[in-house]
Amino acid sequence: MGLGKRLPEFITGSSANKFTVTAAAAFIALSLVLIATVCSPISYFPLKFALSGSTPPEQTCESREQRSSYLKHRTPELPPYLLSKLQAYERRHRRCGPLSESFNTTSPLGTHNDSAGGDCKFVVYTPSQGLGNRILGLTSTFLFALLTDRVLLVDFSADMGELFCEPFPNSTWLLPGNFPFKSDLYGGWFRDVYSYGKLLEKKEKTASDSSSSSSPNSTLLQIFLDDKYSEYDKLFFKDENQGFLEKIPWLVLISDGYFIPCLFQMQTFRSELEKLFPNNKSTVFHQLGNYLLAPSNQAWSLITKFYDAHLAKAEQRIGIQIRVFDPQATPTPVVMKQILSCTETRRILPRSRQSNETSKAVLVASLSSEFYEGIKNRYGGRSGGGEIGVYQASHEETQQSYKSSHNMKAWADMYLLSMSDVLVTSGMSTFGYVAAGIGGVRPWIVTFPDPKDHPDVPGWAAVCERAVNVEPCFHFPPWFAYPDEQGTASGGAGLVNRCEDVPWGLKLVDGLNKTEL
Ligand code: GDP
Repeated sequence: MGLGKRLPEFITGSSANKFTVTAAAAFIALSLVLIATVCSPISYFPLKFALSGSTPPEQTCESREQRSSYLKHRTPELPPYLLSKLQAYERRHRRCGPLSESFNTTSPLGTHNDSAGGDCKFVVYTPSQGLGNRILGLTSTFLFALLTDRVLLVDFSADMGELFCEPFPNSTWLLPGNFPFKSDLYGGWFRDVYSYGKLLEKKEKTASDSSSSSSPNSTLLQIFLDDKYSEYDKLFFKDENQGFLEKIPWLVLISDGYFIPCLFQMQTFRSELEKLFPNNKSTVFHQLGNYLLAPSNQAWSLITKFYDAHLAKAEQRIGIQIRVFDPQATPTPVVMKQILSCTETRRILPRSRQSNETSKAVLVASLSSEFYEGIKNRYGGRSGGGEIGVYQASHEETQQSYKSSHNMKAWADMYLLSMSDVLVTSGMSTFGYVAAGIGGVRPWIVTFPDPKDHPDVPGWAAVCERAVNVEPCFHFPPWFAYPDEQGTASGGAGLVNRCEDVPWGLKLVDGLNKTEL
């Protein structure tokens, strides 16, 4: 928007006192920018960086400029308090992050310099498992950083380094290569020596007083929240332990899941979380994920080329994500039947030819091409009035999460799915959670009844229910996080509920049993 157009003529026209007028115009312009930046709940999509700041030429991020025209169901505005929290975070990241002067004086080896980077604290995210798992763990770690005034750094090895734009202006979130424990972060000995869970376990064994807890060097601890975490690791989610952790300047957090529901249940964070997400617990991932994760230019080019070539012209886009965890229990023909039963009984795709159908583009995302072939054979070509095009962007056959090009295709598939008008996902799949959450599209989730529990139900008779909201499910909450018998969460009533697709998992909700978004 050109400012000159909006200023009154007496300011923009020729005048004897042109200098004063120009200065006044500059002052007004600066004030407007400041007011807009600080006060207003601005839309987060079109901005160059996640929120503010100008983009250095080498860090342009095309997806941030363009994605608002592709993502249909987005929530356009961040709540004002969340916005100001993110702005404060960006300032902290710039002041403390790897490109700042103070960073060099901040060491996890115990020489934490109080005068320079001394008030800077960090949480290093170390990924685990497939890309969907990693994105959920990363977003959860970012919220933890926001809540604890830490700076988020990420240990992306070559397999993830190309996927996202840098989220924070004039800084980087990449853990520097010379970080002291860089090659040890995933090793058993590092966990043994530095994990908080092991520390608690050792303390219990030596029966010492918890108030005298200390880490090996008091400046670094690992928080181990992988799905195989121990009962001691889970104690991270106990309020009484947060005071101790708060004092540790470096935390290395390994996670493969969306642990945000558990943060909501902790007294330590509850009031701040209520302020950050006052009326929108069901869009926490949608908001944070879209702020944090913009596809890199390379990923964006893959995504938009495919979208423009195949999906753009249809009146309706349907995403079908098919994830098979156990091919022996659910072989291809069975899964195919389950998916078609879902799309047809829910009238997502027509059982028979209709004359007044809208044109549809169906994106099939799966490791295998068999489902794409099956769906194309059934629906491809003309169906009465509306054309149905069936497409697949990639079929990698096997999961290869250590490969950059493979993760790039996975990210592209997730993002293309998120651009759907209607979404069908596979139960238990974090890949599907990310697609639904980024897009803000409440999916139909296909879940497969366990034959052991339902011997009378035929194998193909999958359940196909609409998710209550677009929040991901946390698959491995600690026992003390479950809702009590009245259905209320042990901490905040009505904040979490059991997941539709994973009965032992927990997800955020805006009130009990309410359908949202
Ligand atoms: P989850 O295992 O379903 O919870 O999802 P994850 O994303 O954590 O791990 C599965 C991984 O397998 C993905 O990250 C991809 O690497 C690969 N994968 C699974 N399904 C697809 C798919 O539909 N498209 C692509 N490109 N990759 C997939």
